[in-house]
Amino acid sequence: MIKTIFDSYGAPILIGLFIILFIVESKFQLRKRVQSRLKRMIINFIVSIPAFALLRLLFIPAMVWLAVKNQQWLFGLNYLYDLPTWIEAVIAFILLDYSNYIWHILLHKLPFMWRFHLVHHTDLDLDITTAFRFHFGEMIASVLFRGAAVILIGVSPAIVLIYEIAFEAATQFHHSNTKLPFRLEKALNTLIVTPRMHGIHHSMIKKETDSNYSIIFSFWDRMHKTVRLNINQNQIVTGVPAYADEKELTIGNLLKMPFLKIREWKKSERIEEQNYNELKP
Ligand SMILES: [Zn+2]
Repeated sequence: MIKTIFDSYGAPILIGLFIILFIVESKFQLRKRVQSRLKRMIINFIVSIPAFALLRLLFIPAMVWLAVKNQQWLFGLNYLYDLPTWIEAVIAFILLDYSNYIWHILLHKLPFMWRFHLVHHTDLDLDITTAFRFHFGEMIASVLFRGAAVILIGVSPAIVLIYEIAFEAATQFHHSNTKLPFRLEKALNTLIVTPRMHGIHHSMIKKETDSNYSIIFSFWDRMHKTVRLNINQNQIVTGVPAYADEKELTIGNLLKMPFLKIREWKKSERIEEQNYNELKP
């Protein structure tokens, strides 16, 4: 099943989306770059290799295995009632996305998890290659949390795989430096996370980073009042203040960063604008 759904359909879709977004973000750039694109591309791809290997060889097989086993255990929300398959699939998809909103908050709030997620946030520019810059430790830890979510929700193996493809596609899209027509983005943002919305999450200003945790659907942040849209993209300085020295952010340093002493977030402020929930260009 993994080979059919993920390798035969998912991988070509995700590679195709990557090529399209890479070209579009090159032509229509949203935020100004501060670093060499080629250098970051090399760093982000190399850092992503162990995470990618674990995604395909550990994370996905583990999630599918749990979902298959759970069809015998019948544990979880979806096994409590007998609804048409498509409705159960929609419920599972939406709740999986909710579990990832919660997981993303934990990545920021649990000091142990922040060690790993920090590597992703130290990128000083935000573009499609940031979507791959994850420390492999974060991937290993996510197996436990996201595996528990699969069981508790009672997700079918097919939906596990379909959600994972959608999750990866959404991650590529909202990290990309694509300047969409403003009105189109505003309309899209009523339902899904868009590049401007996620750009604010990568700001060096703490309260901006502490917002916009959603992955696919943007309504989780609205529901929990963690949404922040009132920031103009040209004002955003991307990264983590205590890790803003480009020379330090080498491949080796990024891979060992979670195992060293973690620096405190240095204060960085900007006068807040009004219209808290109004998306700004
Ligand atoms: Zn984050």
